[in-house]
Amino acid sequence: MKKRKIKNLLIILLVVILIIFIISIYLKIVINEKNKVEIILNKINMNGLKNNNLLNENNNKNSEQLNYELNNKFNNIIIQLNNLEKILKEEFNKIIYLRLLLIIFISFFTIILLLNIYEYHKIKKQRKNMYKKIKEKNEFKKEFEKGIKNKEFKMYVQPRYDTATEKIIGGEVLVRWHKNNKIIYPNEFIKKLEENNLIKKLDLYLLNEICKKLEEWKNNKIKISINQSQKNILDKNYINEIKKIINKYNFDHSLLEIELTEDIFIENKEKVKSFEKELHSLNIGIAIDDFGTGYSSYNLLNEIKIDVLKLDKKLFDNLEDEKTKIIIRAIINMTKELKIDSVAEGIESEYQLKFLKEIECKEIQGYYFSKPKEMCIFENELKNLES
Ligand code: C2E
Ligand code: CA
Ligand code: CA
Repeated sequence: MKKRKIKNLLIILLVVILIIFIISIYLKIVINEKNKVEIILNKINMNGLKNNNLLNENNNKNSEQLNYELNNKFNNIIIQLNNLEKILKEEFNKIIYLRLLLIIFISFFTIILLLNIYEYHKIKKQRKNMYKKIKEKNEFKKEFEKGIKNKEFKMYVQPRYDTATEKIIGGEVLVRWHKNNKIIYPNEFIKKLEENNLIKKLDLYLLNEICKKLEEWKNNKIKISINQSQKNILDKNYINEIKKIINKYNFDHSLLEIELTEDIFIENKEKVKSFEKELHSLNIGIAIDDFGTGYSSYNLLNEIKIDVLKLDKKLFDNLEDEKTKIIIRAIINMTKELKIDSVAEGIESEYQLKFLKEIECKEIQGYYFSKPKEMCIFENELKNLES
């Protein structure tokens, strides 16, 4: 916006300078012409006066009658010359005004023309960008549909560990897009999918895939959480689609948890409340993801039934700080009293683990124990747990 304003101002400035330049040249020419005309008129007057003197000289020599007639004639000539001077000056002024009008008109026309050219290029550029964006959007949609069809979206699982026993008790499903021999991480495409209203399709596709797995793992009581975009909650059909998927597979629903971020609650309290009730009626759990990074509305904990609070990695980044420890300890105590399970996310060090054991945070998830693993690797680990 600022750039555009500066560009506009520069163009106007340029046009003003151009007009001033043209007017100054014009005025110079006009002054020159005026001087020339005055010089000519002066010459005529001088000649007139000279002739008048000559006449006076002749008058002395000729008769009175002749003198009188000649005097009249020359007086007439002087009057005519004066008239001519007046007419010439008037004509000259008219020409000046006409030229001035012409210049104003040309300048005005030039400004309009320049502004139109500028507007035309601006609109052309905007249209080009718009077409480019539409084209990119369509291509992205096609690639996404192709990705779903070809099963390019793969489920990875990051294990969740019991803090006290350090044993795997669950896992979080995290998606990766395997596209053209490259792995694309969710931060690069989830937002784009949300903007293009495609996220629901991916989230439900993954929900279906994990429910299939939960049916396969029937003998293993492992708890699985899955991320679902908060945008989905605003969709009336979403809960019915969840129901359809859940009912397709035979598994213990209490092993499934849906992760939502807390910010959805601020603007859509009622929708979140009814979604929570529907999920609990299906015996599916609700986890609040990234707790401690957003508004952390304590109303949320008060007004809806939450099963798990996932404390964001950022909370533990500055754990050497005493104040940070006090805050985390207070949150964990609150979860205990509210009978909500706590999960510390993004745990990378022994120091963090030790503190979390000390304050009795229930679960831990992070690179310290494990990075997200491909589904087949996670499944192998589950098999080892069984044996
Ligand atoms: P999230 O739900 O907060 O997931 C945790 C992210 O932190 C994951 O990144 C995980 O790989 C990373 N992480 C876990 N432990 C550590 C650690 O110790 N250190 C560090 N530095 N990072 C750790 P990822 O897989 O790239 O996912 C990013 C975000 O994308 C997720 O954040 C989630 O919001 C979103 N996402 C992932 N999968 C899905 C999905 O299937 N659907 C939707 N709607 N969103 C998804
Ligand atoms: Ca999550
Ligand atoms: Ca998180």
